[in-house]
Amino acid sequence: MQSFIYKSAPTRVIFGSGTVSQLAAEMELLSVRRALFLSTPEQAGDAEAIAATVGDRDIGIYSNATMHTPVEVTDDAMTTVTACNADVVVAIGGGSTIGLSKAIALRTDLPQIVLPTSYAGSEMTAIIGQTEGGRKTTQTTPRVQPEVVIYDVDLTMSLPPAMAGTSGINAIAHAVEALYAQDRNPVISLMAEEAVRALAEALPRIVADPGAVDPRGGALYGAWLCGMCLGSTGAALHHKICHVLGGSFGMPHAETHTVMLPHVTAYNAPAAPEAMASLSRALGSPDPARALFDLAGAVGARRSLRELGLTLDAAVEAGRLTFENAYWNPRPLDAEALESMMRRAWAGEPPK
Ligand code: NAD
Repeated sequence: MQSFIYKSAPTRVIFGSGTVSQLAAEMELLSVRRALFLSTPEQAGDAEAIAATVGDRDIGIYSNATMHTPVEVTDDAMTTVTACNADVVVAIGGGSTIGLSKAIALRTDLPQIVLPTSYAGSEMTAIIGQTEGGRKTTQTTPRVQPEVVIYDVDLTMSLPPAMAGTSGINAIAHAVEALYAQDRNPVISLMAEEAVRALAEALPRIVADPGAVDPRGGALYGAWLCGMCLGSTGAALHHKICHVLGGSFGMPHAETHTVMLPHVTAYNAPAAPEAMASLSRALGSPDPARALFDLAGAVGARRSLRELGLTLDAAVEAGRLTFENAYWNPRPLDAEALESMMRRAWAGEPPK
């Protein structure tokens, strides 16, 4: 029998199609009127269109959210927060926009309403990563946990299929690590298995038929569950290595997760038999690591760090850096085995 602690997420979640229309009512429930809408430059049009739906409430728009939440960008956004005297932040976008929303909440304690448009899962966590002077640091604090999340599948239809594929595998990584986390619990494990099943089923269908709503809905549902997994359990080697590759080598977030996940799953498999049994059920395969590698292939993702532009030396060095402030991992870190894993991931060989 496994002892555990379970705490449910305090976030109010609205899920469906056309749910963006409930934004004004959600603002009403929070008793707020002056919203600051956030997006990246690429999604500025979406932010403007959604801002136009909240009636006569005062609004401000800041559309310069940037990957890895640089503090200079937060400083810049704070001038708009002050100028519009915002009493709520509304984030429309992926992890980068939600990161900016959290950074503003950390400084101001303003409530957040988040409309996620990718599958990264940040909306369901109390984690914030910020970059200052080229260094990314992460902290966990309830101050940044969004109050309301509105999942609207319609907002995800514009996610290009290739990005949906890697973003979805990024989400699966949260579920995989939740299944073998030191602080895992039966409720989150149920969610994790269901999340992997939903995403593995939906992602190839999105690539085959990008305009179909049903698989997009399945993927968003899986991504929500994955976000819950990330927000509820401690991450292990996979997130550590991706953090190193992103933070120290500037590697792209979702694509790096996609390359590394099959390899870390194979590395941890001998030490996490229950997690592997769960993944086998979810993926319909006796070899979950191989199934994840095949899933990455099925969505047309790049499967090597080399193709993402990393040198072999840097890949090996990244493996070594996982020993610095190492995260708990079910299988102890072994320098030789890790180097061999990084070499395979660099070359794009199947996991072993
Ligand atoms: P992202 O937010 O940077 O999005 C990538 C690009 O895709 C952006 O240009 C964005 O505007 C665009 N995009 C997003 N959704 C779209 C859509 N539906 N249609 C068209 N374009 C769309 O990337 P991401 O992978 O979502 O997030 C990555 C960032 O999130 C990283 O910085 C990562 O560290 C952070 N993150 C944080 C947490 C946390 O809990 N704090 C969790 C996961 C990820």
